[in-house]
Amino acid sequence: MHETSIAGNIIDIINESVNSPDRLKVNQVKLKIGVLSNVNIEALVSAFQLAVMDSELSNSKLIVETQPVILECNDCKNICSTEEYIYSCVNCGSNNIEVKSGDELEISEIILDR
Ligand SMILES: [Zn+2]
Repeated sequence: MHETSIAGNIIDIINESVNSPDRLKVNQVKLKIGVLSNVNIEALVSAFQLAVMDSELSNSKLIVETQPVILECNDCKNICSTEEYIYSCVNCGSNNIEVKSGDELEISEIILDR
């Protein structure tokens, strides 16, 4: 499953950025996921919970914030933000549009308990 390998990558990143004694204190891991990234968020959260169970990261929870799609029209330079991909500019109707963001998947913050 796609989400299992993403959860594995997230855990690798946490392990790289947090030293071993502090990993037990990791409480929240905030993720930004663009709506175009094709990730099933529920599946990702359960894959993550399963993967951290009985590990140093067992206290951590994934908090997912979805990010809208930002599109820029190459013809009229209109920038719009939508919840799903659209194929033409809302301003001038051109198909000459570019995705500026909306397919990202990144950790925005790792919060440790004091
Ligand atoms: Zn346009």
